[in-house]
Amino acid sequence: MGLRVAVVGSGPAGFYAAGQLLSADPPFEVDLFERLPTPWGLVRLGVAPDHPNIKVVSRVFEKIAARPGFRFFGNVEVGRHVAHDELAALYDAVIYAFGAEADRRMGIPGEDLPGSWPATAFVAWYNGHPDYQALDFDLSCERAVVVGNGNVAIDVARMLALTEPELATTDATDRAIEAIVGSGIREILVLGRRGPVQAAFTNPELVELTELAGADLLVDPADLELDPASERACEGDAMAERNLAVLRDVAAEARTRKRRSIRLRFLTSPVAILGHDRVEAVEVARNRLEETPEGRLVAVSSAERETIPCGIVLRSVGYTGTPLPGLPFDEARGVIPNAGGRVLGTDGRPLPGVYCAGWIKRGPTGVIGTNKKDAAETTGLVLADAAAGTLGPRSQRDVTELLASRGARIVDYRGWEAIDEAERARGEPQSRPRVKLCSWDELLETAST
Ligand code: FAD
Repeated sequence: MGLRVAVVGSGPAGFYAAGQLLSADPPFEVDLFERLPTPWGLVRLGVAPDHPNIKVVSRVFEKIAARPGFRFFGNVEVGRHVAHDELAALYDAVIYAFGAEADRRMGIPGEDLPGSWPATAFVAWYNGHPDYQALDFDLSCERAVVVGNGNVAIDVARMLALTEPELATTDATDRAIEAIVGSGIREILVLGRRGPVQAAFTNPELVELTELAGADLLVDPADLELDPASERACEGDAMAERNLAVLRDVAAEARTRKRRSIRLRFLTSPVAILGHDRVEAVEVARNRLEETPEGRLVAVSSAERETIPCGIVLRSVGYTGTPLPGLPFDEARGVIPNAGGRVLGTDGRPLPGVYCAGWIKRGPTGVIGTNKKDAAETTGLVLADAAAGTLGPRSQRDVTELLASRGARIVDYRGWEAIDEAERARGEPQSRPRVKLCSWDELLETAST
């Protein structure tokens, strides 16, 4: 009898882990559990709709799903339909790869005013996540403020600036396309708490902002003057050097010819979001950089304040994981405590047969490919434990019996393929990769056709 593994979460980490175990010698059987009726995690519901080339990685996942021994249990939420200890009893090993879907908070006054949103919600909304379609983003204002300096902040700023032709061939939802094209936004202000050298966005994402059809990129030359520590940090850091070169070119040109502009400001943090019934402005502080004893440059707020009128704030200060009932959790880091992927109990010792991979293992960093190496580290441990004979024993019951007794309406891989086909067919006449089904009813109905 082959060993059987449950993988929880069908994003890149879950799929890569599944693929590695299915092609092991001897191969494992893999059951992949996914809360949504659709697989691929943030590849479907995070990656920006105008980046279709990035989503091509889903073809790799399709090939993994076609391998013998693979089963998909969509619309099954671990922690709700089936508990951790039940999975642990039914499988020789369980790998948790359920991502980090919550937003980090800024902890400033006014953060919960209507019009102040986590970027996580905006991203999920324009990508058609079924839990986020009832949200109503009011884009009628003239200025939007995006807080953060990572690639997600840049994605959000760019999405707000895209024109109808740029959006028309994407798989963003029709509602999002309509709202963005018809929005009153003229300026998208992106705030970075540290300087341009410390910005986390990558060079291709920055360059893309200089090439938008309907928006100019603006940056104040004064924001690019570096303190001595940043000068030193920049030397030899190829990404920072390239970013700085692009930003200096942009600052030198100072163009405002297009309908919208994206303005990058550095060394600036919101200290309060202001408004009576909804967002009317952000109060920002000017920061300076200070070096810690470990040599890190941290932003320290000065007394200099400024109030910037705006109608919407999108906070992109990081994703974080949430705990799953019955599993240990490191609240401070927002991850499952682990050693290379072996889940650690409260006594710091590995829980036999329990592993993790991807964002819930290492935190929300890295690109899609990072999860392949990360999953390989974890599956390497599963293989080592299998060889050492420390996995199992497992119960002879099949999880489907248990899920049926819980009334779960499982979407199997065939059900997902029906959704996929329907979406692609809707997209084809419009030269779009797909037009997503984005309500639970539509998804579940289509999955059962
Ligand atoms: P996820 O992709 O989040 O997958 C986790 C899965 O687990 C989800 O499908 C979720 O529904 C499921 N799940 C959650 N809870 C449960 C549960 N209890 N039971 C069952 N299933 C559950 N990387 C790039 O390389 N290029 C990009 O352009 C890019 N753009 C990005 C844009 C955004 C907005 C974000 C947030 C990330 C982006 N990334 C990009 C990073 C990339 O998406 C991540 O590295 C990757 O998706 C993390 O993989 P994961 O499998 O750990 O988590």
